[in-house]
Amino acid sequence: MDMHTDRALPARIGRLRELAYNLWWSWQPNASWLFQHLDKTLWELTHHNPVKFLQQIAPAKLEAAATDAAFLRNYDGLMLSFDKCLTAKGTWFTEKYPQLAGHTIAYFSAEFGMHVSLPIYSGGLGILAGDHCKEASDIGVPLVGVGFVYPQGYFQQRITAEGRQEATYERFDYNAAPMEQVISRDTEGGLLRLHLNGSVIHVAVWRVRLGSVSLYLMDTDVEENDPWNRELSARLYGGDQETRIRQEMVLGIGGIRMLDRLGIRPAVCHANEGHASFMLLERIRQLVQGGASFADAVQHVRATTLFTTHTPVPAGHDAFSFHLVEKHFAGYWEELGIDREQFLALGGHPDGYGGVNFNMTALSLRLAGRYNGVSELHGRVSRAMWHSMWPDKTEDEVPITHITNGVHTPTWIAPEMDKLFTKYLGHDWRDRHDDPTLWERIYDVPDRELWETHTHLKHNLLNFMRERVRQDWMKESAGPMRVIAGGTLLNPHALTICFARRFATYKRALLMFKDIARLKRILHDDWRPVQIVFAGKAHPADAPGRSLIYEIYQLARDHNLGGRIAFVENYDIHVAKHLVRGADVWLNNPRPPLEASGTSGQKAALNGAPHCSILDGWWYEGYKGTNGWAIDPGVSEGVSDDERDAADALALYRVLEEELVPLYFDRDSDGVPRRWVQLVKEAIRTAAPIYSARRMVKEYTDRMYVPAIQASEGK
Ligand SMILES: *Cc1c(COP(=O)(O)O)cnc(C)c1O
Repeated sequence: MDMHTDRALPARIGRLRELAYNLWWSWQPNASWLFQHLDKTLWELTHHNPVKFLQQIAPAKLEAAATDAAFLRNYDGLMLSFDKCLTAKGTWFTEKYPQLAGHTIAYFSAEFGMHVSLPIYSGGLGILAGDHCKEASDIGVPLVGVGFVYPQGYFQQRITAEGRQEATYERFDYNAAPMEQVISRDTEGGLLRLHLNGSVIHVAVWRVRLGSVSLYLMDTDVEENDPWNRELSARLYGGDQETRIRQEMVLGIGGIRMLDRLGIRPAVCHANEGHASFMLLERIRQLVQGGASFADAVQHVRATTLFTTHTPVPAGHDAFSFHLVEKHFAGYWEELGIDREQFLALGGHPDGYGGVNFNMTALSLRLAGRYNGVSELHGRVSRAMWHSMWPDKTEDEVPITHITNGVHTPTWIAPEMDKLFTKYLGHDWRDRHDDPTLWERIYDVPDRELWETHTHLKHNLLNFMRERVRQDWMKESAGPMRVIAGGTLLNPHALTICFARRFATYKRALLMFKDIARLKRILHDDWRPVQIVFAGKAHPADAPGRSLIYEIYQLARDHNLGGRIAFVENYDIHVAKHLVRGADVWLNNPRPPLEASGTSGQKAALNGAPHCSILDGWWYEGYKGTNGWAIDPGVSEGVSDDERDAADALALYRVLEEELVPLYFDRDSDGVPRRWVQLVKEAIRTAAPIYSARRMVKEYTDRMYVPAIQASEGK
């Protein structure tokens, strides 16, 4: 059987293919229902990828569905809302800004996390970009995304029986991915040809649809390119500095030229982190080539560009040596109408070791006109961090504001919670989900029903973990230690804490193991057992990050910890959905103030898993005293890292022993922990409306995009 030949669809349900190629389906509960109704087992086997699913489904099942009244009722209903979304009429944006229809905002990002079928993200930055675009479609903001498709994606993680992370890259199956080629050797004009630094890079372009929003992804892995240029888009964050600068040239410079070729003329450009900021130079170059002076071109680009910075960790800001920049941009600066010194000065920034290099954040701060960090605290930290660029201003006057991150509610809500909200908040809860008054009704949900829904989701999580380990056990005869570390001994009645994120050292995954004896007492209380589930990848080049995974794995295998520590491999969107929906508590204990925002805790809170966290990132503003827990050691600044770690560990144990565990196990005669459920309701009420992508994208639109569009019109 040829897997890649699409099945002919019966005409009555012929638009299923169109639906499969628009990821909009992935945040519609009725769409999963349709696919499950067609063939539930195949839906699971194809990992919820409808493109693959339609390639493999038995024709008889499609024929049957085409005359099945229940199926057709749902199909027709879904297509009606699909068409409504595609026209983007009557949306928040078109109602509020009717005069701005027809403008486009181009959103540049090195990664986009949207669905498991497109492995082109590594973590928070990508998921945020995906959530931003999905929400833009939901509220009608006229946005297009610009990025890369990485043929080998980000790596798949497997942990060996000894606890070592193995990274494998596999070419993902383009035929089974929800994307279509819009620029290829066969389209009019052929591949995009980028003349960069004396050589030509050929680029193919793929389109991914997210409702009414399109993402255009560049791909250099085409036969026409030299091997080193084919490699450019091979992997996300792979390769050396030279690969990296060339990737960023393709993303920024190529991105603008690609939009030209597609006939898209953005009024506003948004750089999601500095990776894409060479687009600033390219836009200036085009204006100068069109006759503007360098100064006028800069002024126009400033007025129409937004730059979002995402991390206070210095190593998270890309910087290149002047030598490398000179090698790749020689000849380019003349087209900007400036000389070498002026060009290098655009990105010049101290490297922290007494030298100067070309820093992408510094470039962005000089050439974009609007800037933001991603939480209130991160805004403040960024103003201090970049104060030197505005020496005549006070720190408070540094023009970097903040827009706090939020998550795309329809993507992250568990279907079971969705049903509960529909029942008690109303059928239109999804349409109104950023309205805080809607969430007052969370108190109408009976405690018992909320608790039972949560318990069901927690069982789902534990079953999911067991099934994964079972599959592994069959496939590669994984040793018993891996089966245990994978979570087979977990207890559905134990308080389940989840810690899932990238393994970077500042996130301090080992903090709770500071005092093993004390932790053991917490885990092994026969009346009030506690267990911890870990997940996350370490960047393959990050040796300290990998060794954290190794250590946690040793603890998960340790008899003395009794199977109460588990590690779920290959953290991705799919795993994240299970974890944030099934956890009792979401833990985060970074070394402050290094967590810019963090969004996984927002996903968990939305689903009724309160956050227990250091007062950093979004929690610094999100914690209200009654909606979760603060790990607050009360130490002031100026202590050493070791002292801070010790104080934070003590604060964490105290919160667990004195607050969390007693509250969780304080049950009524019917087994429901009333006071805990109250806290869960507070967590949902306070987090759901505010830490949603809807609130976030509206804020970006009102405060950034619209003023920038108006500036572009004023020109
Ligand atoms: C949400 C999410 C993240 C980002 O969450 P943080 O809290 O910033 O760590 C990373 N990876 C995946 C797979 C996610 O779903």
